[in-house]
Amino acid sequence: MDKGKCTGCGECRQYCIVARAGCASITAVLCDGSDAGAWNCTNCWKCVEACPEDVDIFTFMMKKRRKLEPPAHYRQSYENIRHTGYSMPIEDLNTIREIWGLGEIRKVDPVKIRKLLSGTGRRRS
Ligand code: SF4
Ligand code: SF4
Repeated sequence: MDKGKCTGCGECRQYCIVARAGCASITAVLCDGSDAGAWNCTNCWKCVEACPEDVDIFTFMMKKRRKLEPPAHYRQSYENIRHTGYSMPIEDLNTIREIWGLGEIRKVDPVKIRKLLSGTGRRRS
């Protein structure tokens, strides 16, 4: 995988909140070549800001993601979005909202969901 101008200096890992939390971070691949998962990334871009070589870490990560199977909970989130527009199940959202004294969540127009998904390049099945 092309790491571009990466020198393996380790700066990106110093700033990565995922790495600092002790979880597998894409920055490990850049820093020492170890095979870390790309799906934990929060897209905070701290690593990009920290990199002295201006490596396009985001593109590097997205290329790696496309080669891997996403974790099961990502697939479930996608299915939830496909059906309701929300990543969490509506019942769970309403339970949380009830705790906070809020009313039931607003339903999303299915036309808007289709538009959202077409923007991601995913087709409805
Ligand atoms: S991506 Fe940038 S910050 Fe990270 S190891 Fe490579 S050169 Fe250093
Ligand atoms: S964008 Fe991802 S890899 Fe970079 S610092 Fe944030 S969590 Fe870590």
